[in-house]
Amino acid sequence: MSLTSRILLAMAAGILVGSLLNALFHLDLMPGLRGAIDTYLIGGLFDVVGRIFVASLKLLVVPLVLVSLICGSSSLGNSSRMGPIAGKTMLFYLATTAIAVSIALLAAVLVGPGEGVNLVSDTTFQATEPPPLTDVLVNIFPTNPVQAMAEGKMLQIIVFALLFGYAISHAGEPGQRIASFFRDMESVVMKMVDVLMHLAPYGVFALLAKLFATMGIGAILDLGTYFLTVLAVLVLHVLVTYSLLLKGLTGLSPRIMLNKMRPVWAFAFSTASSGATLPITLRTVEHRMGVHNSVAGFTVPLGATINMDGTAIMQGVATVFIAQVYGMDLSMGAYVTVVITATLASIGTAAVPGVGLITLAMVLGQVGIPVEGIALIIGVDRLLDMVRTAVNVTGDSVASVVVARSENQFDEAVYLDESPDQDDDDIHDEALPTPTA
Ligand code: ASP
Repeated sequence: MSLTSRILLAMAAGILVGSLLNALFHLDLMPGLRGAIDTYLIGGLFDVVGRIFVASLKLLVVPLVLVSLICGSSSLGNSSRMGPIAGKTMLFYLATTAIAVSIALLAAVLVGPGEGVNLVSDTTFQATEPPPLTDVLVNIFPTNPVQAMAEGKMLQIIVFALLFGYAISHAGEPGQRIASFFRDMESVVMKMVDVLMHLAPYGVFALLAKLFATMGIGAILDLGTYFLTVLAVLVLHVLVTYSLLLKGLTGLSPRIMLNKMRPVWAFAFSTASSGATLPITLRTVEHRMGVHNSVAGFTVPLGATINMDGTAIMQGVATVFIAQVYGMDLSMGAYVTVVITATLASIGTAAVPGVGLITLAMVLGQVGIPVEGIALIIGVDRLLDMVRTAVNVTGDSVASVVVARSENQFDEAVYLDESPDQDDDDIHDEALPTPTA
């Protein structure tokens, strides 16, 4: 069985086992066993394996972003292509996010998920004050790169790595030596990603089994229309917006792209974090989609940090939903404000679970909708978070392919190679030396 199939199978099995356990508890079957299952299986085995899996993904993020961005920018440093690549990437990210919110608003207005809904919420939501824009800008520039890495401040790491890579390409022979060190480092860190990828079926299974065993699916029933509207727009954005953009801008087959995204989706879905998925996104975009490291090393980490179309879609639908529940009418100007603020909010959303809900406060605040409304949708947010994270990482990957293709940093043969064992190639590609006696 190919690695992709194993990961997808683990995902399905995790959801199934988790849901069965959940049903078991709800129907109060085998009450005697409940304590043991809770303690040793769900809170024990599943929890431990899942947490170790996420931790091992996260541990790769900072080293991987640093080395791959240094490699990318050092190979581009002399060619004056850095500016255009950055420009195109930003344009693509902002434009697709704005399109995503617009579709979400349109769909929500047409469907009216909050009309006639009478939800009394017993949870409360405390909004946090967003920092002023000037601070946000200044904070992109690190005062101490080591601290930036220690704290995992992605944008700061990106700025440092770009500068470092640029300097390497202009430092003559010493620069060349350092560049080759970082290229070697990149191969080694990528190898770590490969190893982890092969352990993924266990991690994905454990995460999903625990989540589905403990999640109250009942909330979905109350919020059914909201849930389905968000879900439909998320799917639409991937199948229509991304596919059309990919086909229109590169002429490549979207089907191949979507196929190759499947293992990445499994990671995004089970971790609900673009950040934790980053190593897998980068690996897939470089090794399976043929994007050269000079582009992928920049577009993927940046995208994981600032490009969140799925999050923006949830925020668009949620805004209309909450306004409808509170019986408020939104003006045309308010819709435009939502498009702008949701696009900006998605930049400020950290690539970890559930943050989209926090930045939603900013969007609601801008158009005068009570922020407490967020409490209404908390119940179904985790499940939507998993799906929207998958959309977020798809946007990053599409952008990488589009930008790489336009910059001639793209290997079409790799993109077109659909052999199922392409994933397995890396880890088995070098035969181990036979030990001599
Ligand atoms: N979990 C999302 C991500 O990491 C962010 C969010 O929407 O909460 O991409």
